[in-house]
Amino acid sequence: MNTAHMKPLLATFSPGSTHVVGDGFHVRNLFPSNDIGESISPFLLLDYAGPTRYGPRATPRGVGEHPHRGFETVTIVHQGRVAHRDSAGNSGVVGPGDVQWMTAASGVVHEEFHEQRFSEEGGVLQMVQLWVNLPARHKLSPPRYQGIESAQIPRVELAGGAGHARVIAGELGAVRGPAVTFTPINVWDLALAGGSQSEFTLPLGHTAAVVVIEGRASVNGSPALEDARMALLDVDGETVSIAAQLDSKLLLLSGVPLGEPVVSHGPFVMNTGEEIRQAIKDFQSGRMGRLA
Ligand code: MN
Repeated sequence: MNTAHMKPLLATFSPGSTHVVGDGFHVRNLFPSNDIGESISPFLLLDYAGPTRYGPRATPRGVGEHPHRGFETVTIVHQGRVAHRDSAGNSGVVGPGDVQWMTAASGVVHEEFHEQRFSEEGGVLQMVQLWVNLPARHKLSPPRYQGIESAQIPRVELAGGAGHARVIAGELGAVRGPAVTFTPINVWDLALAGGSQSEFTLPLGHTAAVVVIEGRASVNGSPALEDARMALLDVDGETVSIAAQLDSKLLLLSGVPLGEPVVSHGPFVMNTGEEIRQAIKDFQSGRMGRLA
């Protein structure tokens, strides 16, 4: 392993909280419950839901009507199917391998439920929801919805049969992911073979973290990390070296930090307290829309 340009390991984390979102998403939160703040900007939140087996039920579990403003929610489904509907008129089902990239920006009201047939049949739900902050100048842009199907996500085979990377956002070598983003970020879904060692090069100046979804892996010399553990790397350096001790699924995140104040209040993430008060007023007065 070439350590000259390796991004220094800052810390590793276990989930800082576990909770249930609505009644359908049993999540382990890696941040912000672990207070890592700007060191992973522009990412704000990472909930790892499941894997949880839900029994059959006629009425889908999930979370009803709620707002978001000032950022994007990114839902990456590994197992199960989630149905979404929002006040901007978008709806869709996110199944295994699919990604939903929802830009709340100026504000949407949406609901997230287990898809009807998945609920009736029962099964395992395993997914990640990531919140990506928006730069101040785009926080009040119109909402946008990208329903990205598994087949649209390019897959890069790694050297030496080490596995593959699905490029959801950003660029790996010459391969560009389909997600349109407001600032430069990489979101890569990695499947690595046990016993493999892989090296990735990130642009200079990116924050970075690697989350183990399943398996066991070391990142830039960290202790072995199992499921729902995360390695946080320094903004310095360029390379990320991952040694997988077992067949592993991981999520690699990186991005240019925004360097702007973050004021959050539940589902609203703005730059000032005044903007939060305005968001609450706008939601309460129906200016973020309603579900039909
Ligand atoms: Mn939501």
